[in-house]
Amino acid sequence: MQTYPIATIDLAALKHNLKHLKQLASNSKVMSVIKANGYGHGAVEIARALEQSDAFAVARLSEAIQLRQAGIDKAIVLLEGIHSVEQLQQAAEYRLSPVFHHWSQINFLQHAQTVMPLQFCWLMIETGMHRLGISLDDSQQAYEELSNSALIEGDIGLMSHFANSDSIGDVRNQQQLQQILQVKSLYSTQLSMANSAAILSIEESHFDWVRPGLMLYGISPFEDKSASDLGFKPAMKFRAKIVSINDVHPSEQVGYGGDWQASEISKIGTVDVGYGDGYSRHLSNKGYVSIKGQKVSVVGRVSMDMICVDLSEMGDVDVGQEVILWGDEAVSVETVAALANTIPYELVCQLNGRVERQYING
Ligand SMILES: *Cc1c(COP(=O)(O)O)cnc(C)c1O
Repeated sequence: MQTYPIATIDLAALKHNLKHLKQLASNSKVMSVIKANGYGHGAVEIARALEQSDAFAVARLSEAIQLRQAGIDKAIVLLEGIHSVEQLQQAAEYRLSPVFHHWSQINFLQHAQTVMPLQFCWLMIETGMHRLGISLDDSQQAYEELSNSALIEGDIGLMSHFANSDSIGDVRNQQQLQQILQVKSLYSTQLSMANSAAILSIEESHFDWVRPGLMLYGISPFEDKSASDLGFKPAMKFRAKIVSINDVHPSEQVGYGGDWQASEISKIGTVDVGYGDGYSRHLSNKGYVSIKGQKVSVVGRVSMDMICVDLSEMGDVDVGQEVILWGDEAVSVETVAALANTIPYELVCQLNGRVERQYING
């Protein structure tokens, strides 16, 4: 039996999205980004569905080990690299490809002893994001140290990351591109720059490896374009159930703090999902859900386990009725994110272990 709340993940949609992406970046290899539990979709299942990727990428060592222990065999890139000598040794043991983004990480190479050398590694270059990366000035020395290390057997790829790729035509994207091209001219090695938004809008940034995350899950990185405009299919449908329906009379209030007050007799439904599942509290009095294809407003504050919705405009509806929180025509995750004043990345990542994941079309 299904339990609610539940996130249904359409594995065929993920496969479609990867295929579509490969057509858009047909000369590049694909590093599918499945950090943060595959953007909340379930990292192991997503890795299995996206087996046509050339590599996977996660942020942390623990995420990579989880994938290896589940039998995922493909190359796995550690986007934040390693943070100790022990982690470096583990990365080698688990055949991972760390990114080196800071001298502290490069220095670990002098202190580590690994049975197996590291295979493919990456050097992160700072080009404008100012978050992780070795400066352009230091890049040559860093590249040489990595190349000369006995602990690295494979190639050293060069990586950088756009800060504004979701802003189409932003001059800063061209500036970052110019910076990376300077480094590219110094070495004949593989280069990776583009995340989802850049893959879609900055074709010159595709280079040897693209690094899609969001788009694989069928979510648009652009505020003014939907996933289907871009040819992608949303993978996640997030649902809960109505557990109570009551009449609320004029001047009576709903929920903590009484932030919503009835102005006429209203039919209020209580839905079994809350911020304790990852349904954003910022949707209090702002969000809407979809019931039988119709938009229905969230009224009052989102509580830990429940939300209330105004069913007054709905015809027949009973306790047990399914409610779509996002993932259908009426409520896309992009629109819900806009209502919550955030980005869809946060909403899907926030779904926690209390929400069952159901995989279909595998
Ligand atoms: C998360 C991440 C990506 C994927 O970004 P999307 O916008 O989800 O496509 C790519 N590269 C790096 C370095 C990242 O941290």
